Amino acid sequence: MNSTGNLNIAQNLNKLKEKLGDEVCLVAVSKTVSVENIRKAYDAGQRHFGENKVQELLIKQSELPEDIHWHLIGHLQSNKVKSIAPFIHLIHSVDSEKLLLTIDQEAENCERVIDYLLQVHIAEEESKFGLSIALAASLAARAAEGEFKHSRCRGLMGMATFTDDTEKVRSEFNRLRHLFVDLSEISRQQVFDTLSMGMSGDHEIAVKCGSNMVRVGSLIFGGR
Ligand SMILES: *Cc1c(COP(=O)(O)O)cnc(C)c1O
Repeated sequence: MNSTGNLNIAQNLNKLKEKLGDEVCLVAVSKTVSVENIRKAYDAGQRHFGENKVQELLIKQSELPEDIHWHLIGHLQSNKVKSIAPFIHLIHSVDSEKLLLTIDQEAENCERVIDYLLQVHIAEEESKFGLSIALAASLAARAAEGEFKHSRCRGLMGMATFTDDTEKVRSEFNRLRHLFVDLSEISRQQVFDTLSMGMSGDHEIAVKCGSNMVRVGSLIFGGR
């Protein structure tokens, strides 16, 4: 599954963690990665893992240690929320009011509180999911007013355009950071503290732009 023959997952992780420091949470994106290779990362101390498909997440969650913090980073359909509600650590991809209402309801059914991020569309590409800035702001405001009792809006997630144009990437990340700062101020919930942006190719720019959570896959596990 990996293109690198002499792949050393532990080594890749340690290098990355050293670079990121303690202020930035590293989510190891393990989509398409085997349980065996995820376990290597786990044995090296990694506890936050991200998956983009519910089906794959459920299988891996059942086979791997219980103290893993699972992140759902891909587009989520409302009818799949129920299956991850009992254990999911953070949903990065809330991109509609309907999905948010479902998460809140399923969290209540499980008698727990589910943390989530609002995914904001900052890239040029039309294919990427995400809320407009206006809609993200209005949902964050409603969350801050206490409308949703069983879920907590922890911050924002965004993906930049896939391009070599670093200025463009920087400006998209900066736009998201500005929104994050604005919403932190209106948010009476003190838990609005997470800005998830940056992947293998652009995490360095993202962190410079204020990201405190990066989602990195291929740099750890090799190319998919
Ligand atoms: C796949 C994926 C990542 C990680 O991508 P890499 O380039 O392998 O680091 C991050 N975020 C999301 C939403 C993804 O789907």
